[in-house]
Amino acid sequence: MNENSPKKHKINFGGGPAALPPEVFADASEAVLDYNGTGLSILEIGHRSKEFMAILEESKAIVKELCGINEDYEVLWLHGGGRLQFAMIPMNFLGDNDTAGYIDSGHWATEAAEYAMHYGGTNIVSTSREGNYAQLPAWPKRIDGNLAYLHYTTNNTIYGTQWHKIPDCNVPLVADMSSDIFSKQMDYSKCALFYAAAQKNIGPAGATLVVMRRDMAERIKRDLPPMLSYKAQIAQHSVLNTSPVFAIYTSLLMLRWTKARGIAAIEQENKEKAALLYREIDRNGLFEAVVKKETDRSTMNVCFRIKNEAQEKTFVSFCEKRNITGISGHRFVGGFRVSLYNAIRLEHVERLAEVMRAFESNNDI
Ligand SMILES: *Cc1c(COP(=O)(O)O)cnc(C)c1O
Repeated sequence: MNENSPKKHKINFGGGPAALPPEVFADASEAVLDYNGTGLSILEIGHRSKEFMAILEESKAIVKELCGINEDYEVLWLHGGGRLQFAMIPMNFLGDNDTAGYIDSGHWATEAAEYAMHYGGTNIVSTSREGNYAQLPAWPKRIDGNLAYLHYTTNNTIYGTQWHKIPDCNVPLVADMSSDIFSKQMDYSKCALFYAAAQKNIGPAGATLVVMRRDMAERIKRDLPPMLSYKAQIAQHSVLNTSPVFAIYTSLLMLRWTKARGIAAIEQENKEKAALLYREIDRNGLFEAVVKKETDRSTMNVCFRIKNEAQEKTFVSFCEKRNITGISGHRFVGGFRVSLYNAIRLEHVERLAEVMRAFESNNDI
């Protein structure tokens, strides 16, 4: 084998940018050379071309179908990842004299609230900071009807906790779904706005999906430069400036894959994947799960530790030697985090469990 020959594709449990299905990688590669027989690469297709308009339209239609939402909602593809939404949400909806509620379930939720402090009042209505976010905070019993909106994070990527249902809310509910959108059936219509950076369950980094109920446009508080204004982005149908055409096209490939499998089947497999891995962690004498409360455990990000910390690096290289990568925990929490996004299949998790057993019994496999 010469040094440039391709290696076997690894099993990538990374938190994001994350694994995508091999079919998506193959179709995206083909489009880089020739998009749909146009004689052009997808990389050089204009963002106002009829080809890209068709990509946008189809992707938005699939998003609506997968989320079961109707014409009351606008689907936007924006730039800037999750963090730009942390900023755009308060810029648009939080007036200087308003207050917004934030549920603090961990790092991303905290950061979203910190961004909002630049624009208006923020009220942390619930937090699980004590105990280092190893469980979900309580959902508030009563939500002040004067809040401009309530923001929460459906799945806490770094800490491995997840809300399994979208709660009812008497003020506009805004949800960061970056790490669990399309992973299960949810009543998305309970949200006034939800968003997700693409690089976990949707596609590659560089595109951000924002879905907003149209009546939210009436609540916009500031006159903003167009790039930062939902109103202007809606009016320009996500092509206010040069769109990340390739990132959106690759996301469309992933959306088609998601639709072909169906959310119900994906949800079922996600449950099986997570159950299998938690079972092995709970059984295996070397490891312990970070999130103890079963109902708070995420199906997308499974966080665990090795009881003897001196073995942490050894286990990572044991996995690497067996073509398994991306299992180190986020730098804020250490330990391990195995991300089980939609592109990860049951057999990948079975393989990891097998490697964990082999590590426990000092066997080579
Ligand atoms: C990954 C992630 C983000 C950060 O997204 P960026 O695109 O890097 O800004 C935000 N929220 C959650 C829940 C995430 O998992």
